[in-house]
Amino acid sequence: MVERGLLIVLSGPSGVGKGTVRKALFEHEQYNLTYSISVTTRNPREGETDGIDYFFRSREEFQRMIAQNELLEYAQYVDNFYGTPIAYVEAQLSKGKDVFLEIEVQGAMKVKKSFPEGLFIFLAPPSLSELKSRIVNRGTEALDAVENRMAAAREELEMMEAYDYVVENDEVHLACQRILSIITAEHLKKDRVKHRYESYLEESE
Ligand code: 5GP
Repeated sequence: MVERGLLIVLSGPSGVGKGTVRKALFEHEQYNLTYSISVTTRNPREGETDGIDYFFRSREEFQRMIAQNELLEYAQYVDNFYGTPIAYVEAQLSKGKDVFLEIEVQGAMKVKKSFPEGLFIFLAPPSLSELKSRIVNRGTEALDAVENRMAAAREELEMMEAYDYVVENDEVHLACQRILSIITAEHLKKDRVKHRYESYLEESE
């Protein structure tokens, strides 16, 4: 029996570096990861290729995909729509591949509802850990600047509540190592591996 793969969702506040961390992760080829290419209505940027970076589609086509339940989740971000085609995710998980989604937070919360067994990783900005010292040194910064930062950080912290793991993106290679460690550990969870030992246990009875 093929063990079903993990659905790994990397998300976090905008600008935290999700795309950069995701690209760096995929350089580690020894992991059994496959990237779920999203559909988007935004125009390709220079250097982006249809079918590699995204499936670039019209709004009409995107609406059709929503209507036909072809998306695991979707969200509007700025002026464009982004979504995860469900067929690819399902097919890869059944083949035992780990499927990696790099999506914004509203979409991640939708995946969590329909796929609670997924592995939800929150990529946090390093500024959160710096915040405390900034607050301590309040006198050196204008009061409203500190308060704005605190308010923004509070919102970011609230978002992390629904995730399983929090990884600080202080340096890309460190964030990658942490994520790979989480994936390794997740594969070793007793409930995932115990069936491998069941035949031994039965034989010895
Ligand atoms: P960009 O336009 O910079 O490529 O992506 C904008 C945001 O959309 C990023 O935060 C990215 O993680 C997110 N995103 C990319 N694909 C998807 C998707 O399929 N679903 C959701 N919900 N967000 C996505």
